[in-house]
Amino acid sequence: MLPLPEGISLQAVNGVSLLRFNSLTDGTGARAWFTTRRGGVSVPPYATLNVGFHVQDDPEAVRENRSRVWSALGVSGEQVVGAEQVHGKKVRLVAGQDAGCGADDAAGAIPGTDALVTQQAGLVLTAYYADCVPILLLDPTSQSGGVVHAGWKGTALKAPAEAVREMQSAYGLEPQTCRAVIGPSIGRCCYEVDDRVLVPMEEAFGSGLKDLAEGTTPGHARLDLWKANRTSLLEAGLRPENILVSGLCTACHTDWFFSHRAEHGRTGRMMAVLTL
Ligand SMILES: [Zn+2]
Repeated sequence: MLPLPEGISLQAVNGVSLLRFNSLTDGTGARAWFTTRRGGVSVPPYATLNVGFHVQDDPEAVRENRSRVWSALGVSGEQVVGAEQVHGKKVRLVAGQDAGCGADDAAGAIPGTDALVTQQAGLVLTAYYADCVPILLLDPTSQSGGVVHAGWKGTALKAPAEAVREMQSAYGLEPQTCRAVIGPSIGRCCYEVDDRVLVPMEEAFGSGLKDLAEGTTPGHARLDLWKANRTSLLEAGLRPENILVSGLCTACHTDWFFSHRAEHGRTGRMMAVLTL
C-alpha cells in the first residue's frame, strides 16, 4: 500500500485509481486529484493509465485513458484545460474561452506554460507529470486555484511562487489563507543530481541550498525538490500549516506511479486535476 499522509485518500472509481487531495479542498466547493498508473488500457512501458500524448504511446489509448479519468471524476473533456509544459515559470490565467484546450490532443494545448490558474468555477485545470513536482494551489478567500508543474528547472525558477504572485495581482489571492499540496514526485531518496542542477539551485536558494541538498560524492548531492518548492511557497507568504507535502516518491513506487528516472525515460504520465 501507499504510505498516504492525512489529507490524501486513495479511491478507485470504475477501476481507475486516483489520489484525492482532501486537505486542499475541504470546506470549499473545489475538488483536486492526482491520477496513478492504474486503471487504463496502455501497454508497457506506458501501462496502463498513461494520460500524456507526447510520450509515443498510442494516441487512441491515451484518449481512452483520459476519457476514463474524466468519467471517474464526473467531468467532461469540454471543461478541461491543459498546457504544453516547457520547464519555465510562465503562468497563464485561464477562463471560459480556454475550455477544451488540450483535452483530446497535444496540438490544442495552451503553448509554453507550466502553471494554469483560474477563478472560473467548472473549468478543469490539468497538468502532467512523471517525477516532476505537482503543486496545487487553492485560496478559499479569493476562490481561485491553480496547478503548477515544476521539475528542477521550475523549482529553481520558483514557479509556484510566481503562480501565487500572479493570483495575488489578478484575483486578490490572500497568501495567509492560500493552501497548497506538493504531490507525488521524485523524492530525495531517489534523486541524486550533479552541478548542472546544483549550481542553478544555489543561485535560486543561496545558502538555503544546504538544507535542500545532501552531498554524496564530489559535485553530487541528493536534492529535495519537495522542500525547495515548500520554501518558495513560504517565501511567497503561505503559512507552513497550509502546505501539505505528500511525501510520495514516484521512483520508490513504480507499481503506482510512472517515474521518468526509475524507468529510464520510457514511461507514461500522471495528471494533476483541479476544479473549483
Ligand atoms: Zn524514492
